[in-house]
Amino acid sequence: MLAMNFRGPFRVRADRDKPYPEIEHPEDAIVRVLRSCICGSDLHLYHGLVPDTRVGSTFGHEFIGEIVEVGSAVEKVKIGDKVMVPFNIACGKCAFCRQELYGNCHESNPESGAVGGIFGYSHTAGGYNGGQAEYVRVPYANVGPTVIPEWMDPDDAVLLTDVVPTGYQAAEMGGIQEGDTVVVFGAGPIGIMAAKCAWLFGAGRVIVIDELEYRLDFVKDYAQCEVYNFSELEDPVGFIKKTTDSLGADVCIDAVGAEAAGNTMNTLLGRKLLLQGGSTTALHWAINSVKKGGIVSIVGVYGPIDALVPIGNVVNKGITIRANQASVKRLLPRLIEHVRNGIIDPKALITHRVPLEEVGEAYHIFSRKLDNCIKPVLIPPSAS
Ligand SMILES: [Zn+2]
Ligand SMILES: [Zn+2]
Repeated sequence: MLAMNFRGPFRVRADRDKPYPEIEHPEDAIVRVLRSCICGSDLHLYHGLVPDTRVGSTFGHEFIGEIVEVGSAVEKVKIGDKVMVPFNIACGKCAFCRQELYGNCHESNPESGAVGGIFGYSHTAGGYNGGQAEYVRVPYANVGPTVIPEWMDPDDAVLLTDVVPTGYQAAEMGGIQEGDTVVVFGAGPIGIMAAKCAWLFGAGRVIVIDELEYRLDFVKDYAQCEVYNFSELEDPVGFIKKTTDSLGADVCIDAVGAEAAGNTMNTLLGRKLLLQGGSTTALHWAINSVKKGGIVSIVGVYGPIDALVPIGNVVNKGITIRANQASVKRLLPRLIEHVRNGIIDPKALITHRVPLEEVGEAYHIFSRKLDNCIKPVLIPPSAS
């Protein structure tokens, strides 16, 4: 079958000879992929920043599709169902799944003490093949796959597998109180969604910081927020202090993660020399510009490697840091309602629709931020 194939950093292509996935366990399902997004976090894999990303693997943790085969123990979905598949692979039964920590399932990735299994996200996340392919094996099919409501646009559905829940959970973890000033670092799809969702929790002011003008223009309109380009600010932390009566923001959200720009030392240590688990510039800014006693919410992806953070400031300011991979399954029911009621319009983020055959070009465009790209979606030839 046709599938995205990782050949090494910055080398991704579509290959036709990937074997069709098979049922390996009675709870597996095989899904014929209808849409599959490239995620900003896929770029960390593409850039070679995630350990144990093996040549020959297929990325893609944001996909929807049709169930075409089920194992003997699958009861919750059936052949012919069109489903959205959360990016977390969760067993539904372990101690963590029972707490609705579906991103931290212990069964789907027992080698890791941290993250659970994720589709197409290196062997540090379980070594599962992803959905940037014509077909994909979905383990624990009684748990994750959720039938797409009749009324829902497939473009909205595919963004409910990661972007919307991750942005929403970023705001939720911020513990936003009525009237709070919320600063979101990063105007990628997750930052855009976090800014949009901050209002749902009662924010009084939402500020987004990035350096890409086209993304700032987009989020300003989409999320009705204030935007600032950090490359035009002498000191982003000083700026945020100044605009919040010298106190700092109530809540800061890091929606950037390991590839943050804006600081030479962090870029050198984390992106060039790989001496720490990515560049932590956005996290530094978040910690240093939140108020005393404030909350920093992290949804930007960092690798499992140590990284330098200003922990003294965390302690002395009494900051609460909350972070996790989004618990997609927990959030889906309320997010489906928000889409139905028109409160969130996910598909507006999709800027590029690319045939799966051209996956290499899609990665290139997205990685280089060409052509005003915000969110690319791949369409397999077998989707129609
Ligand atoms: Zn993603
Ligand atoms: Zn589990």
